[in-house]
Amino acid sequence: MPLALYDTWSRTVRPFISIHAGEVGMYCCGPTVYDYAHIGNLRTYVFEDILRRALMHNGYEVRHVVNITDVGHLTSDADEGEDKMEKGSRRVGESAWAIAQRYTEAFVTDWRALHLLEPTVWCRATDHIAEQITFISELERVGYVYRTDDGLYFDTSKQDNYGFLARLNRAGLQAGKRVAVGNKKNITDFALWKFSPSGITRQMEWDSPWGRGFPGWHIECSAMSAKYLGNWFDLHCGGEDHISVHHSNEIAQTQAAHGTRLANFWMHGHFLTLDANTKMSKSGGDFIRLQTLQSRNIDPIAYRYLCLTAHYRSKLHFSWASLDAAQIALSRLRNLYFGWPDGGRIDPDFAARFDAEVNEDLNLPRALAVLWELIKSALPPATLRATVDSFDSVLGLGLRDWKPLVSDLPESIQVLLSEREQARAERNWAKADDIREKLNAQGWRIEDSKEGQRVIGVTTERTDIGNE
Ligand code: AMP
Ligand code: ZN
Repeated sequence: MPLALYDTWSRTVRPFISIHAGEVGMYCCGPTVYDYAHIGNLRTYVFEDILRRALMHNGYEVRHVVNITDVGHLTSDADEGEDKMEKGSRRVGESAWAIAQRYTEAFVTDWRALHLLEPTVWCRATDHIAEQITFISELERVGYVYRTDDGLYFDTSKQDNYGFLARLNRAGLQAGKRVAVGNKKNITDFALWKFSPSGITRQMEWDSPWGRGFPGWHIECSAMSAKYLGNWFDLHCGGEDHISVHHSNEIAQTQAAHGTRLANFWMHGHFLTLDANTKMSKSGGDFIRLQTLQSRNIDPIAYRYLCLTAHYRSKLHFSWASLDAAQIALSRLRNLYFGWPDGGRIDPDFAARFDAEVNEDLNLPRALAVLWELIKSALPPATLRATVDSFDSVLGLGLRDWKPLVSDLPESIQVLLSEREQARAERNWAKADDIREKLNAQGWRIEDSKEGQRVIGVTTERTDIGNE
């Protein structure tokens, strides 16, 4: 079954065909680095990682671009309020540049802990001010820009289909005026360049043809995606909150300057919620980081597993109980997988069923159900290992690299390992070799490293682990 994906632009699941054969360009809106990422933000990146792996599983080479928003994202999406970076800097008592660096590093640490594949390009907004100025000049040349006393704005009334992505009711918005218009001509107009307030030196500001200031949030993504992926690429992703403002505005800019809606497919991950429908947000009180989980001895990959249990287009309600259940399922899977020997072949029927679920708009909950059904089947353990191994290229649980801690091993094996450790300490190599052979005979492969002995795998089918 060929890959089909839900496209927010058309509101349909449609076959995915890349613009250039065999290659996919994918742009994902990255974090605003005024604070740590919470696990809600991270759910969106897990979804995008699954998408990327699914594309690779289908044979595509993916050029994956992720930006870092380190300037210009205001505290209100309606272009009101302060730059989140300047505000964050005051909160922490460090420079905006220092907090950008710190929170970017923390984000990348979380990224790797969740086994998210490294993007082809990480790009910072502040490293691309020149590209953003050029983009705004282009918009000015084609007549979409007007000036107010606080900045340059994009005139959305010049575009008949402005807001189509969000199915925005512009007339209703204008009449209702729920959002302050200020000096803007239309309620949906948005800032391209903001002037530094007079008499105030911002920490992050640049010269431009229009005056000293800083770029709006939306222009960074239009400018950087064009630089790294061109004016028409395959996929643009983000969280569902981006549909109505940020992505609608990116599309407006690129359509005005380059005549395209940037990407053939627009895909959005739905929110992680805390209770009923409360979304987790950086400004809200309940702020759970990946580190919060780690400090409770929860493996980050258990959170990844939890994300896989819900379809990316449904809300995922977070609870500690569901995270515990994910951790138990993951541990069971790891132990079972570890106990199966290499050398088997992928089972074609289960592989086809798994691929069909993945290819039907990334139905990971059903793909996981296929995995557990496979595990319960009567197939030989080597076949289970080979097949689960191939599934894991999409799931990204890193099963092949997982090794049990000594404390996870059966007691009889722990005893033999400590006897061997003792023999090694006494330089009694004959005894150490003897015990190694005993361990081998029972199916355990041991390696000596600088840190001591390590169990690196099993040589035969094991029955004494993985059944906890
Ligand atoms: P931000 O750092 O606020 O720019 O957001 C980074 C990403 O996280 C964006 O793609 C948002 O759409 C997404 N996001 C924000 N809150 C949540 C949430 N509660 N659940 C899932 N994704 C979220
Ligand atoms: Zn963006």
